[in-house]
Amino acid sequence: MNKETIYQFCPLCGEKFIKKRLLQNEPERLVCSACAFIFYLDPKLVACTIAETRNGIVLQRRNKEPKKGCWVLPGGFVDRGETLEEAARREFLEETGLHTQINCLLGNYSYPGEANIIIVYQSDITGGTIRPCHESMSIDEFKRQDIPWDQLAFDTTKNALKKYIEENG
Ligand SMILES: [Zn+2]
Repeated sequence: MNKETIYQFCPLCGEKFIKKRLLQNEPERLVCSACAFIFYLDPKLVACTIAETRNGIVLQRRNKEPKKGCWVLPGGFVDRGETLEEAARREFLEETGLHTQINCLLGNYSYPGEANIIIVYQSDITGGTIRPCHESMSIDEFKRQDIPWDQLAFDTTKNALKKYIEENG
């Protein structure tokens, strides 16, 4: 289903949205037919982390669709008002049980037609004990030669891991 068809009614007055091109070079917007409220479908920010224990790079096996059973970098959606860095640290802790300190920005990843923009940090692990959360089937640590390249969930997972390995040997 096209994501935009989920939103049919104005959240302010309850009347129906119509699709309207307001500016020539911009996409069609959802505009309320009664009160003219414009519903901007903004991108969603995701903050992810690459971090290594002495046993390898920490990856999480997804326990939900999409890509259930595939491996991803620990991470998740940034809350409104939260910094990117804080979101990356919070999500990594929630999903792996490990505390991190951000070392540097590894990269940002966006794709035509996709809602999510993914920011990937490279971090050092500063404490905690590995344990999977409800969103993961398991957490594991991978040496370079053991990374499951054909079972990675998303393009970003693959692209960020490649870049990290290129830059860090
Ligand atoms: Zn309205």
